[in-house]
Amino acid sequence: MSYEELLEKAYSELPDIVKEHHRFEKPQISSIIQGKITVVQNLGEVSKSINRKPEMLAKFLLKEFGTSGSHDGQHLVMKGQFRREQIQERFEAFLDQYVLCGECGRPDTRILREDRVSFLKCEACGARQPLGVLKSVPKREETKKLEVGDEITVEITRMGRKGDGLARMGEYTVFVGGARVGQKVKARITGIQNNMVFATAIEILS
Ligand SMILES: [Zn+2]
Repeated sequence: MSYEELLEKAYSELPDIVKEHHRFEKPQISSIIQGKITVVQNLGEVSKSINRKPEMLAKFLLKEFGTSGSHDGQHLVMKGQFRREQIQERFEAFLDQYVLCGECGRPDTRILREDRVSFLKCEACGARQPLGVLKSVPKREETKKLEVGDEITVEITRMGRKGDGLARMGEYTVFVGGARVGQKVKARITGIQNNMVFATAIEILS
């Protein structure tokens, strides 16, 4: 297969939701201080863009700032003076704990509840994780930059929903065709999209 054909193959195997959103841009909080109160002007839009209810985000922010307030679905009024940067920072902590997938880093997640325990379920890669946990996603510079054609050695730790073997490599999630859970494989990279790497097993090492 040519390089283009390989890319096309990797792309055609991507879950549809990944194709729709090429890159996740963190929504920006818009807020203003008015006397002794702070108004978040786009609570509704921001919540909608991450597919969470405004109530949930409002409750989180009020708790984080240790204050009281109210919202009407679009605006959040908080008692006290808080700068936009402070609110943005707390909002990004919310994203980390309640929205972004800890495996692939994408925002296409849902909150599921089973036996009184809540989970974050990722629609993009299928990962499931406890809710409200701060994920320490490794920094980009800690991992060597990967390129199509590179040979990598990975250990398959999970099974993808399309039968691929999944492995973790720094901040990358590697999908390896033809590999099973528990195997250590040498694989060649056929496609990369953001932090998702597609590879084909070329040798089973153990
Ligand atoms: Zn995921």
